[in-house]
Amino acid sequence: MSGKILIVEDELKLAELLGDYLRQGGFEPLHVADGLDAVPTVRDEKPDLVLLDLMLPGKDGMDICKEVRSFSSVPIIMITARVEEIDRLLGLELGADDYICKPYSPREVVARVKAVLRRSGAAAIQDQGLTLDEARYSATLRGVSLDLTAVEFKLLQILVASPGRIFSRSQLMDRIYPDERIVNDRTIDSHIKKLRKKIAASAPGEELIHSVYSVGYKYEVE
Ligand code: CA
Repeated sequence: MSGKILIVEDELKLAELLGDYLRQGGFEPLHVADGLDAVPTVRDEKPDLVLLDLMLPGKDGMDICKEVRSFSSVPIIMITARVEEIDRLLGLELGADDYICKPYSPREVVARVKAVLRRSGAAAIQDQGLTLDEARYSATLRGVSLDLTAVEFKLLQILVASPGRIFSRSQLMDRIYPDERIVNDRTIDSHIKKLRKKIAASAPGEELIHSVYSVGYKYEVE
């Protein structure tokens, strides 16, 4: 795997260490230490992914994340020194793709970078004329918009990212509602039902999402 990774981190030793690991992983690391430099660098350098520390001089990670999201869908991994902060960040829906808590192992960060890049690569998948645009939560099938809700979009995205893999209802639920425990698993069935209906309306006879009896669902093009 390769790509330009922008590290926004004011602790220079940490940034250097991370840079070394990323380079070993085949990536091209860039680094800025001041929050004020982050957004202009994203604009100029067009990185493939941003590792964004939360507490920064100049401008904090939350403001940077919001600003970047106004013009770019580059994957962002947010880094915070406090694990309690992650819940709050998730609630704010800043549009970050993943969160990592300090202290971390650089090896773990590289693994997460790879995972996020794989996932976002799948977002641009063009399979049987199916296009997913994560920044807009929009999906088109052979040029026809499917007009999905956010939950339907996420379900489709998860399934499409792993063709042929069977997901149980609870696996899908965990991914869609990571911090809610009281969602009935029939909720997934009803979202899938609507999703399939929308696919069938755009492409009659096209079955992309298959139910696997008593197990769950999978995406497969026949
Ligand atoms: Ca910091």
